[in-house]
Amino acid sequence: MNVEIVELDDRKAKFVLSGVTHAFANSLRRGMLAEIPTLAIDYVNIYDNTSVLFDEQLALRLGLIPLTTDLDSYVLPSECECGGEGCPQCQVSITLSVEGPKIAYSTELVSADPSVVPAESVPIIKLAEGQRISLEAIARLGTGHDHAKWQAGIACGYKNMPRITVSEECDACGMCVDACPRDVLVIADEIVEAVDERACSLCRLCEDVCELDWIKAGTYPDSVIFTAESDGSMPVTELIIRSVDNIKERATALDEYLGIIDA
Ligand code: SF4
Ligand code: SF4
Ligand SMILES: [Zn+2]
Repeated sequence: MNVEIVELDDRKAKFVLSGVTHAFANSLRRGMLAEIPTLAIDYVNIYDNTSVLFDEQLALRLGLIPLTTDLDSYVLPSECECGGEGCPQCQVSITLSVEGPKIAYSTELVSADPSVVPAESVPIIKLAEGQRISLEAIARLGTGHDHAKWQAGIACGYKNMPRITVSEECDACGMCVDACPRDVLVIADEIVEAVDERACSLCRLCEDVCELDWIKAGTYPDSVIFTAESDGSMPVTELIIRSVDNIKERATALDEYLGIIDA
């Protein structure tokens, strides 16, 4: 397997994966969306709410706020020594106390653990003069399998890596170069070549204008262009690495299970 990084920052990554099956790429994508735990508000005790939102709507909005998550410090409630009853290893308390007139933002949430804070400033609600909210929320680890609020990966996906092939008989008439909407093709040494296959959209306009079918826009069988984005709960690189580790764990578990069946 080979990895070529195209773009990378704290939240987003784009890379070309070569030497992999589509099944592996899809497993990596699904891991980011559904297997990697992240913290999200899961229980809310509302002491006062005179805003325009019902308690349930307010709790729903709070649950969807991404929280920074250190997976080395917290465990899933189902795997915690407390048996899921709630302790500092599996949950964190977050409070909110605001009064209008103002817009209340996620940055006003006060966490009992300074390492667990909203990943970005999200407006929660607009409060009119005298309207108040006072509550305590409990954030727990969970996975995207259970609810979208625990989905650390957003906009994770891949597409086939385009492959442009040109026959040696090409007479460099340039019609395909002019037809390409993405400026993928150039004429070099009396033949057409692709300057950046990644930019190709596989629209196949180049094939349409070449009457002798001397250019083909296809795909590599074992390469994909992968894009991944984190919701801010963890760096996108950590999300990708944990997803790869998760594939390994699941494959090992399956291997051991099949070994038991054979024996
Ligand atoms: S249209 Fe066909 S012949 Fe003309 S430059 Fe493109 S590939 Fe070559
Ligand atoms: S398939 Fe479309 S984008 Fe790709 S090289 Fe041909 S014309 Fe350009
Ligand atoms: Zn616990």
